[in-house]
Amino acid sequence: MQLLKDRILKDGQVIGDQVLKVDSFINHQMDAQLMYEMGREFKRRFHSEKITKILTIEASGIAIACLAALHFQVPVIYAKKHQSVNLDKDTYQSSVYSFTKNTSYDVRVARKFLCKEDRVLIIDDFLANGNAATGLVDIVNQAGAEVVGVGIAIEKGFQPGRKVLEDKDIKVESLAIVESMNESKIKFK
Ligand code: 5GP
Repeated sequence: MQLLKDRILKDGQVIGDQVLKVDSFINHQMDAQLMYEMGREFKRRFHSEKITKILTIEASGIAIACLAALHFQVPVIYAKKHQSVNLDKDTYQSSVYSFTKNTSYDVRVARKFLCKEDRVLIIDDFLANGNAATGLVDIVNQAGAEVVGVGIAIEKGFQPGRKVLEDKDIKVESLAIVESMNESKIKFK
């Protein structure tokens, strides 16, 4: 998606050679109009699929998933990272390993929001090693529902996330795929 690629080139910042910082338009300050267009592009790429729910993970996937949901006209569920009184006791749960934090954390979705008839599109901001998306796939599987695909804003193509998902026969659509990056250059596939 050219609009997103142009914005990454204009405002993205590469930290080391592994982390792309997009905090001025996605991860902290957010450009809702850009995200709305990203949602439209996800709808175009998955237009032939029947989708009943969008699933994402807190926090940075939520805004993108919500703006995509305006185009799909379906509810958004976000997997929660923290147990709280606001969360039902009856949950699906999966463990996600965070490469950046070098630790695992649990994500949970209340059982009442996913059922076996659901056809789920998973959306997230980044795809790196595929751990977050795999945790969400696990939750959808526990519900007996179907993963229709994974929609990613920015894929780091030099990390193995796509292969991890495609090995499970999951369709992956990324709006921008970074082939390589360093502090002075970002190259897209
Ligand atoms: P994975 O689970 O695929 O290894 O990593 C995906 C998750 O880690 C995403 O939910 C995203 O929040 C975070 N992440 C991974 N790489 C990056 C990156 O380069 N920049 C930012 N901002 N987040 C990242």
